[in-house]
This record gives sequence, C-alpha cells and structure tokens, in this order.
Amino acid sequence: MNIHEYQAKQLFETYGIPCPKGAATSSKKEFATCIDGLSDGLIVVKSQIHAGGRGKGTFTDGFQGGVKLAKTKDEAIDFANRMLNNNLVTVQTGSVGREVQTIYFTEGAEIEKEYYLAILMDRVTSAPVVVASTEGGVEIEKVAEKTPEEIFKASVDPVIGLQAHQARGIAFKLGFEGKQAGACAKLIFNLFKMFWETDADMVEINPMISTLDGGVMALDAKVSFDSNALYRHKDIVAFRDLNEEDPKEIEASKYDLNYIALDGNIACLVNGAGLAMATMDIINHCGGEAANFLDVGGGATAEQVTAAFKIILSDPKVEGILVNIFGGIMQCDVIAEGVIEAAKAVSLDKPLVVRLEGTNVEKGKQLLAESGIKITSADSLADAAQKIVDIVASDS
Ligand code: GDP
Ligand code: MG
Repeated sequence: MNIHEYQAKQLFETYGIPCPKGAATSSKKEFATCIDGLSDGLIVVKSQIHAGGRGKGTFTDGFQGGVKLAKTKDEAIDFANRMLNNNLVTVQTGSVGREVQTIYFTEGAEIEKEYYLAILMDRVTSAPVVVASTEGGVEIEKVAEKTPEEIFKASVDPVIGLQAHQARGIAFKLGFEGKQAGACAKLIFNLFKMFWETDADMVEINPMISTLDGGVMALDAKVSFDSNALYRHKDIVAFRDLNEEDPKEIEASKYDLNYIALDGNIACLVNGAGLAMATMDIINHCGGEAANFLDVGGGATAEQVTAAFKIILSDPKVEGILVNIFGGIMQCDVIAEGVIEAAKAVSLDKPLVVRLEGTNVEKGKQLLAESGIKITSADSLADAAQKIVDIVASDS
C-alpha cells in the first residue's frame, strides 16, 4: 500500500526525521490558512499523487510542474488553484495521469546539495538494504545505469538491525563530515527504525538535502507498506487513499480476491497464486497478454467467483476470458456455478475458455455444458491458453 508524501512526512516527524514544515488540504478554502501557518519566505506547492516525477510533470491542460516554488502567498495560492482537480502526467503515471485531489504546502528549504536515500527489501539477500547516492534529485535508475560507482549500499542483518557504524559509514561515503555526518547518520538510523517498525517495503527520500546551515533533511518522501502486515498497523491503514487505487482492485479486496489489473486483453480467473502466474506466463508464451492477475484462493465460494467474474469483465480492455482451475480444496462445480451465475448476470458476450481439472471435475463440466452459455472447453493449460489467444486474435 502506498501513501502520500504529506502522510509519509507525518511519520517522519514521529521518528525524528527532519523535514520542512508543511500543511496539506483538499479544499481551496483552506489554502490561505495552510500557508499562514508556515514561516515567511519561499513556499513549495506540491501536488499529492501516488507517483514520483511530479516536479517535471505536466498537467493535461498544459500547466507545467506538479511541484512549484512560490515567492509569495498569492503566487502559491495561484499555483495550488491550477493544480487542484487537474490531471498530472509524470513518467510514473502513464499517459492518463492522476487527478490531484490534495495540495501540500511546505516551507522552502535552501538546498546546498541533493542526495538520494532509500531502504528497501533486497530480493537477492532477503534482507533490507540501505541505498544512498550523492546524485540526488534525479532518477536513480539513470545513476545506476551510467555511474553505478556513485551508489552506496549497506545490507542490514534482520536479526540485529541497522548498526550505528553502518549508518555512519554511509554518511561518510556521501561526503559528510563532522556534525553533519552525525546528523545524516541519525537520519538514516531513524529511517531504518521507521522502515522496520511500520513493516514498510520501501522508503525513499529523493532528494535528501544538506542545508546551508549545516543540517540534513528529507525534501521528498515516498513510502509503501507490505499489505500482508497492514492488519497490525491500523494507523497506517487510515492513510489509505481509495482515489489512488484502481476501483477494480478495491472491489476485489472487498471479496478477499487477489486481483491486480494489468495492460493486456485476456482476463484470467485462476485458483492459486502460482497457477495464476503460470497462466499469465503461458498466455504470454502463446502470443497473448494477460489483462489481470487474479487468484480466487483455495476455498472460494460461488459468490466470490461471481464477484471475480464481474470485476474482470468490468475492464473495457478485456476481449476474452480464460478460466483455469485446478480443483484441490477448490471444487470444480463451485467454480462452474460461479461462472454460470456471473455470465448470466452480465449477459456475457466475450469468448470464454474454461479448463477445469481435479475435484468434482465431471460435475463442473456437466454444469457448464448444460448452462447454455457459449464456452470453449480445454484439456490442458497449454491447450486453454492457445485457444483463448487464437480466438481473441481472430476476433480482432
Ligand atoms: P518529485 O518531482 O515528485 O520527485 O517531487 P520532489 O518533492 O522531489 O520535488 C521536485 C524537486 O523540487 C526537488 O528535486 C527539488 O529540486 C525541488 N524542491 C522541492 N522542495 C524544495 C525546496 O524546499 N526548496 C528548493 N529550493 N527546491 C525544492
Ligand atoms: Mg523527488
């Protein structure tokens, strides 16, 4: 789960990570009050969306920049008015962009130098890793590609946590000295504490800055959390912004379905995460592209299957559906009932290929055959994938 920058900075504050003072609002009427609470000087006006690259982004009406520096209160209000309810397109949003529904005003910091700092899970070592670079403020992917020697890493032993010497080591590699090195090490140390205690899977500060008065602070904040651990963080769940999520994914979460929308045109309904991934792979192998990942779980009810079916069909990109069920705990007849109920409820008019195997398979196949719904049945996963890819290709 992702949160907004202004929410991440609330967490930073609790963990003693310095950042500029700020205030957020979704209401035009509160712009002035938000700004009045900040000290005089430069004001930064920041569009709040769950995507990076806002500074260099463009709004669909042509207005440039989702992060703007204003010299006066009037200018800040003017920028905020242009941003609110406007659609911001950045390198991370895709061409559709995201509607800005919250504006965050912060005191402008005087930047001496910009750095990059992040903590994330390293899949190679299965442990957290601190990543830092002297090349902040720019896309870290480009730094990794062009000047990988500018990126410093420290792997954290999950049993003992980040050690003070590791935090200091990174601060020195970034070129900090004396008191400022201490301030940077403390920031890194506190950031790890937050990462660990909140079950975050990524915290990124780009840029972290050194200030002219010898301080170190976080100018930006991007934080995401491990969804499997959210049950023990009610305060973090309260940060969830449904406006930023795909409505299909929200609907799926109501029915405990593991659904992720993707870019292709072949919808899949599968039981088991591994089988769902294998199904997507084989669709790809046969020349097609999956429209979603969907795992209905081991013990899905007919109601869940119906909901799942409706969700995948609500995606306008979908041109065909592949149902791939291996009935272990899951019974094929339950899946068949769900498919029939949903197909009738939505007056299914898209090609449907079904591959059923396992518990109650004969009963399931019989129900489908007697339902009157046009279904192409398949005998194996490869057969099913090839059939749906061919049907969709011949229809378009
Ligand atoms: P992003 O574009 O979504 O990554 O948003 P950021 O919060 O990183 O802001 C973009 C850029 O605006 C930063 O890299 C800075 O260069 C600049 N910026 C943001 N806040 C301040 C500030 O307080 N003072 C100054 N001088 N520049 C800022
Ligand atoms: Mg940034």
